[in-house]
Amino acid sequence: MPTISAGALKRMLSLPSNIVVRKPRIGEDPHGGTVVTVPVRPYANDMDRCAKCGRHGRPYDWLGTRRWRHLDLGCARLLLEYAPPRVACREHGVTVAMVPWARRKSAYTRDFEQQVAWLSVHAPRSAVSALMRIDWKSVGPVCKRVADDLRAEQGGGLFDGLRSIGVDETSYRKGHRYMTVVVDHDRGRVVWMHEGHGEGVFRLFFETLTEAQRASIRVVTGDGARWIDSCVGEFCPQAERILDGFHIVSWATDALDKVRTMVWREARRTGEARKGAKDPIKGARWALLKNESDLTAGQKARLEYIAGTNGTLWRAYKLKEELRMILRQPADEARVLLLRWSGKAASSGIDPFTGLGEKIGRRCEDIVRTIRSGLSNARLEAVNNKIKTTIKIGYGYRNLDNLIALVMLKCGGLDLTLPGHQ
Ligand SMILES: [Zn+2]
Repeated sequence: MPTISAGALKRMLSLPSNIVVRKPRIGEDPHGGTVVTVPVRPYANDMDRCAKCGRHGRPYDWLGTRRWRHLDLGCARLLLEYAPPRVACREHGVTVAMVPWARRKSAYTRDFEQQVAWLSVHAPRSAVSALMRIDWKSVGPVCKRVADDLRAEQGGGLFDGLRSIGVDETSYRKGHRYMTVVVDHDRGRVVWMHEGHGEGVFRLFFETLTEAQRASIRVVTGDGARWIDSCVGEFCPQAERILDGFHIVSWATDALDKVRTMVWREARRTGEARKGAKDPIKGARWALLKNESDLTAGQKARLEYIAGTNGTLWRAYKLKEELRMILRQPADEARVLLLRWSGKAASSGIDPFTGLGEKIGRRCEDIVRTIRSGLSNARLEAVNNKIKTTIKIGYGYRNLDNLIALVMLKCGGLDLTLPGHQ
């Protein structure tokens, strides 16, 4: 029977070159199937390195044997086996010694974790868990470790050369909690995320940046919140403050949805809408909020019904669509149209639109700047939707840091490849 040299075995399993491998054992897997165990150890000179800084430490004591799950060998589970010493580092105290094949405090090899992380941004967690044969609760922490490493490789570079950024607060866990997301518009990627929202959180972002990094920022987009203005004023006064186009449209769709709810409640109160009957106003929600050009035939019919039966709701709808069209006009024409729209909405007598009319009048110049900036609203919205979808996928990640890691892996422009693929 031919034997495989240690060098060949290392190459077959894509193990780091600076380790010693010994003869594998083949046995029964308690979970079913076959398990291959490969005893390994770092080179003698690397056995006493601190897991935190990699410097040589003083031998402290020996712990028992540990096993690290590596990528499967065919259908067999593959484990690396080693009894790492603990070492005392001058700076970090006593730690389990560094091993070249795995991250600190992980029961998986680097290659295994990289594959789990790659899969997590492409497949639901249940699929990742089934394919990789790991507990679904372990998926989030793996994503976190891989994202942290990739971020560290990028260093401060992630924040270098930022020119135009966007800030948004996003709800998660069905709207109960908030997090703040900062996007690099030029590269279309997330650069920073943090739990919570408001001025205190946005300040933390600016405090992470160096003076030079702050100075390079020319444009900051976001919704109309005052905390954005005050942070921009304090940390990068040279930057132009611009409203996101999709936020302006969402003000109008929110107002319209309030009108629809009011009209519907009123109809129920006066008995016009019978309980249990299919309610045409309630059913028209999506038709009303959608862009006119994207409507299906059925949705058009619903709107026609509303046009014929409910003047208030119809006028509110027309106001929303009109505002959306104005945002597509050249800046100077838009200014005239915005002021006219603002007056019309403010005096419409439709409650949420009177307030919105005043707001649009007040922020007219900001909106004109948005149009003039030439930032593609469609692109900004696409990045925003990608983030929101990823957050939805990550709902099951109990730990917020793991959820943030998932978003960074998917939308953060990190260099995440499959192990062995360059
Ligand atoms: Zn150390």
